[in-house]
Amino acid sequence: MKLVVDSHTHTVSSGHAYSTIQEMAKEAQNNGIEMLAITDHGPAMKGAPFLYHFGNLKVIPSELYGVRIIKGVEANIIDYDGNTDMPQDYLKRLDYVIASFHEICITPSTVEEHTRAVLNILKNPLIDAIAHPGNPQFQVNIEKVVKAAKEYNKFIEINNHSFAVRTGSEKNCKEFVQKCKEYGVKIVCGSDAHISFDVGKFDNVYKLLGDIHMPENLIMNISIEKFEEFLRNKRIKIASL
Ligand SMILES: [Zn+2]
Ligand SMILES: [Zn+2]
Repeated sequence: MKLVVDSHTHTVSSGHAYSTIQEMAKEAQNNGIEMLAITDHGPAMKGAPFLYHFGNLKVIPSELYGVRIIKGVEANIIDYDGNTDMPQDYLKRLDYVIASFHEICITPSTVEEHTRAVLNILKNPLIDAIAHPGNPQFQVNIEKVVKAAKEYNKFIEINNHSFAVRTGSEKNCKEFVQKCKEYGVKIVCGSDAHISFDVGKFDNVYKLLGDIHMPENLIMNISIEKFEEFLRNKRIKIASL
């Protein structure tokens, strides 16, 4: 199995990441990544770009060094009602939207509240996936989240970076993959690279997916065509909203 799409990465625009889009794309090409989603942090995170950044992503070519560039955001979940720091009319213009909890943007609460927030996020037609949902600081009811992802046809992200920076994520990530397999929910895999050299780094993800024998049809990053099909369908869905 080879993952050829990296669906979660950050550029220098995030404020605490260190490579330009050109550097990221070049390294993607070197690492056999055919499609790269740029998902810089939403504006609620200190050092992240202002909204205008996300309104102007059209100036970036859709292909760089032979690598397809997907323009997205990692929106910050800012309350437990399902709001993010990105207005809906900005989300509409993006190819791909992931949303996540970060302690510096929202204070952790109870499992019930975290779960309620994620269920509300999954209902938002403009949000495609929950990023690093295995973070134990924002523990959720995994079964409920996976079932909701199934209901709303959304993705669960398995984040390679979590294993290093979000201590205790392994157990939750494993359970997420198991439940996704059980319920037939698709996953997306992100390196969450904050520097070009980490683009396409999926060592932890490969191990986990191998251990659980995750079927390839449930893994979005397995082919560029599969991801393109999802993006096309998303555009049709947005046009009908
Ligand atoms: Zn994140
Ligand atoms: Zn990230």
